[in-house]
Amino acid sequence: MAGALPALFLSHGSPTICVEDNATTRFWAGWLKRRQRPRAILVVSAHWETEGLRVTAWERCPIVHDFSGFPEALYRLDYPAPGAPGVAEEVRAACRVAGLGEVALDGERGLDHGAWVPLTRMFPAADVPVVQLSLPKGWPPERLYEIGRALAPLRGEGILLIGSGGATHNLAAIDPDATEVARWARVFETWLREMLDDWNLRDLFEYWQVAPHGVQAHPSEEHFLPLFLPMGAGEAKRQATIKHDAFMYGSLSMLAVEFR
Ligand code: ZN
Repeated sequence: MAGALPALFLSHGSPTICVEDNATTRFWAGWLKRRQRPRAILVVSAHWETEGLRVTAWERCPIVHDFSGFPEALYRLDYPAPGAPGVAEEVRAACRVAGLGEVALDGERGLDHGAWVPLTRMFPAADVPVVQLSLPKGWPPERLYEIGRALAPLRGEGILLIGSGGATHNLAAIDPDATEVARWARVFETWLREMLDDWNLRDLFEYWQVAPHGVQAHPSEEHFLPLFLPMGAGEAKRQATIKHDAFMYGSLSMLAVEFR
């Protein structure tokens, strides 16, 4: 797959990161340098879970401010990227061929903050078309990995696949004043990095049972599951590279992984 774009897993953190300057936003801002510019971006976010698979089919997709209790400035943010109905059709066709069932076209849902928060920094001009694929409720990691495998050929056609969630995500443990990283968060993230390095699908698919502090790192699964789509899209080379690693609020990993 010469010239194929990598697939990415990003930890998107808190919506406030949009208006901050830190190591993660600088990583996002620098990502495109020396890389091929995508024809379109296909995002799967922790924040759009649906019955079955859905894909946005807008000509111009609005955004959703799907959070509450944050500073007013965040609700005025927009990300007016074009949509890409043609790419949505390519996604449907790839999933159909792979036996993953019918992907419904969605003209109601806008991009959620899991999608637009990193994109505001990675592609600040909002001039690359964006399509969002939903996270299907109840699908186990191995089936999400299959979606990634089915979508892998799109990487060779200029489509940047991003899974947006979090390497750790325990909101009850968030501490804005923390000066150290909680041990459980560090141990889980270290385990994750080792499993990615070994491409240990068996343990990753069973992470809730086998990972140290798996349930503490992910009391609910939706922020971890987007990992398996870009990972599946990297099945041919089985090469995961950590591109960014930082913690915020004492336990929130901002890990970014690239799959070649
Ligand atoms: Zn989130």
